[in-house]
Amino acid sequence: MKNGKARLAIVAGGAGFLGSHLCDALLASGLEVVCLDDLSTGRRENLRHLEARPGFRFVEANIAAPLPEAVSRMRKHPDAIFNLACAASPPHYQADPEHTMLTCVMGTRNLLRLAEETGARFLQASTSEVYGDPDVHPQREDYWGHVNPTGPRACYDEGKRAAEALIFDFRRARRADVRVARIFNTYGPRMRADDGRVVSNVICQALAGEDITVYGDGSQTRSFCYVDDLVDGLARLMACDTDPEGAVNLGNPVELTVADLVTRVLALTGARSRILRLPLPTDDPRRRRPDIDRAQALLGWHPRVPLEEGLRATVAWFRREIAPALRSRPAPLDLETG
Ligand code: UDP
Repeated sequence: MKNGKARLAIVAGGAGFLGSHLCDALLASGLEVVCLDDLSTGRRENLRHLEARPGFRFVEANIAAPLPEAVSRMRKHPDAIFNLACAASPPHYQADPEHTMLTCVMGTRNLLRLAEETGARFLQASTSEVYGDPDVHPQREDYWGHVNPTGPRACYDEGKRAAEALIFDFRRARRADVRVARIFNTYGPRMRADDGRVVSNVICQALAGEDITVYGDGSQTRSFCYVDDLVDGLARLMACDTDPEGAVNLGNPVELTVADLVTRVLALTGARSRILRLPLPTDDPRRRRPDIDRAQALLGWHPRVPLEEGLRATVAWFRREIAPALRSRPAPLDLETG
């Protein structure tokens, strides 16, 4: 890709929460988009509004397996390959850890090879989980992390770390032009109600008048970025012609405790739910906040949507889209606890 201009983008994981918003943004900016997804956690509903749209194509594919011919032999070469294909919420990525690890490693390798063959620029959706339960705060990209390599989160944390290693080996060998975004907690419309994440759980529980599940004492922190901001960061990183020569954090540096998040959601929804305290999951990070100086300097990027506004939009979406189904919602997924 030259001068930051892509014409055809592949979005692996494009039926997911982040991926579907990225497909929207890329199409709106005039690109053609081929979306790959195995629909293990992604959903066709996230793409319904795009199905009839010229320039959009969906291919059901598991990136950990050899890519289908519809992709590997496309007449038109992609300029940009975004790899967002992986379950990302702890209950989902722990439900099939082997698939998670293979998606991270084999899937990334298959897409890197496609980038090598076609000359497309490759962008990896990596994660703040590569920092594990960090003993440095806030987290800068040069921090190597504090990850339990044998715990229940390792399939994802170590899978994403292995993917980064592979990506930078491709870069060193000049086999591909690569970008790596380390994505911190992101929220917004199209999150799954059964995702098991704190934002979707708390909003859905509040709307359904159920008890709010707080793991541990609620003093652990996270920094939540609204999806539109995050997608803008991904698009800028892909378009950036200066090689960042390393990973770039993308997230909102406004840090708050889980207890504080719950208070805000209760205030926004007017719910009178009680708090149900549950054990803290194994290896649950105590604190997390991105240092985004690199993204600011390289991309001129910083989040713009305040938490209050983003939460309001997310609550409104859940209210509209899934409130009727909430009453028949299945029980929350199990998380291994220590
Ligand atoms: N959490 C919680 N209640 C829930 C779901 C999550 O208290 O119903 C906590 C979880 O233990 C973690 C934080 O909220 O400390 C964020 O969890 P999430 O699964 O959203 O993302 P993570 O950052 O852990 O990947």
